[in-house]
Amino acid sequence: MIADRIKSLNTFLADRARLVAVTKTQPVEVLHEAYRAGQRVFGENRVQEMTDKKPQLPADVEWHMIGHLQKNKVKYIAPFVTLIHSVDSLELLEEIDKQAAKCQRVIDCLLQIHIADEETKFGLTPAEAEALLHSDALAALAHVRVLGLMGMATFTDDEAQIRTEFNGLKQLFDRLAVTDRPNVQFSELSMGMSNDYRIALEEGSTLIRVGSAIFGSRT
Ligand SMILES: *Cc1c(COP(=O)(O)O)cnc(C)c1O
Repeated sequence: MIADRIKSLNTFLADRARLVAVTKTQPVEVLHEAYRAGQRVFGENRVQEMTDKKPQLPADVEWHMIGHLQKNKVKYIAPFVTLIHSVDSLELLEEIDKQAAKCQRVIDCLLQIHIADEETKFGLTPAEAEALLHSDALAALAHVRVLGLMGMATFTDDEAQIRTEFNGLKQLFDRLAVTDRPNVQFSELSMGMSNDYRIALEEGSTLIRVGSAIFGSRT
């Protein structure tokens, strides 16, 4: 049962980290079921799907964008999105800032860091993230706030490799967390999915993004 899995995951997490229930491809009935079980944070990876689902759920849901975000689509989620996990360029941050300003709000963001041993995954290198955080261009953006980092480990059975990648991200997080900029306030480290969230928690995750372990495999 979805409700049981959500409840036991949240009990397991306790105060250590929060659960982002990844509901991509799931029909809205499934989100309602999760909501009834107490879940309030939902992660989607496509703008169209998020904007379709948003009006069909209660207003106290937190919507987290976890997938690659194109600049021309930011405007559709800017009025309501709670956290964008997948920021991977200054240009994207500038567009988020522009759209947030139009909505008279500040949008919280995480920088996605490339930590996996795979070519296909998006994200900044540690050096790029550090340069971005210290840039005057970022400091000028009054309608975005960078709350931390997100990363995806390599899809592998090698737990030692996964742990090394998450540990590297945590060390980067700790190093960048002292950044003294008005719109940089590190508190969130988004790492861990269905197959590796236990390792991610041990390595310091504050937000785990879990889909299939709750909802079953996606069709
Ligand atoms: C789909 C997805 C998840 C959840 O993956 P599961 O393996 O189903 O838990 C987490 N993070 C991102 C960025 C995703 O796209």
